[in-house]
Amino acid sequence: MSADPTPPAEPEHDAAAPRRGRLTVLAGPTAVGKGTIAAYVRTHFPGVWFSVSMTTRRPRPGEVDGVHYHFVDDHEFDRLVEAGEFLEYAVVHGAAKYGTPRGPVERVIREGRDALLEIDLQGARQVRETWPEALFVFLAPPSWDELVRRLVGRGTEDEAERERRLSTARGEMAAQSEFDEVIVNDDVRRASEELVSLMRSGRTDR
Ligand code: 5GP
Repeated sequence: MSADPTPPAEPEHDAAAPRRGRLTVLAGPTAVGKGTIAAYVRTHFPGVWFSVSMTTRRPRPGEVDGVHYHFVDDHEFDRLVEAGEFLEYAVVHGAAKYGTPRGPVERVIREGRDALLEIDLQGARQVRETWPEALFVFLAPPSWDELVRRLVGRGTEDEAERERRLSTARGEMAAQSEFDEVIVNDDVRRASEELVSLMRSGRTDR
């Protein structure tokens, strides 16, 4: 019997290699409740690993450095940008800089764990460029009026800032079709469970 001259095809999955985890990116307009969903998932689904972003904004009461964000100054942020340490970064709401440190995400995915990024639309678009196999989830409000009501209701922004955020939100709402999945945040528990079940549904092999 003559030997087959063609080398065997690379196996699609190397049985010896550990399963890689899945990266999920959650984005959505201002005041849609991304933070609330993230908090619910943190509490109820401890198996989900959350990226801790760097930001140049000041901590709010109750926020812990290294838990909610790594709080850094402008100089340090720019140094990390130069060093290529971010998977993505953006100036959000024309104010502070935010970025996802690359190293921890890559390590967690290599270790086979599932990771979640809660970032803005500009950041989601950057991740799409460099990590297209991630799952991109858009969190939408039940309606535009409800989004306005939530933004006014939380009372953390003044009138001018609200207007600015709503104008950004209009553009962000139009970007829904860029995402793999849309979750309507009509109920925090339901929406959070839908997110986690999407993360676990094995849809990355697109
Ligand atoms: P906040 O200051 O209210 O915590 O977040 C403001 C916005 O920044 C939210 O839309 C949040 O999703 C976004 N954000 C938080 N971390 C990151 C990040 O690492 N990268 C990007 N691009 N946006 C982020």
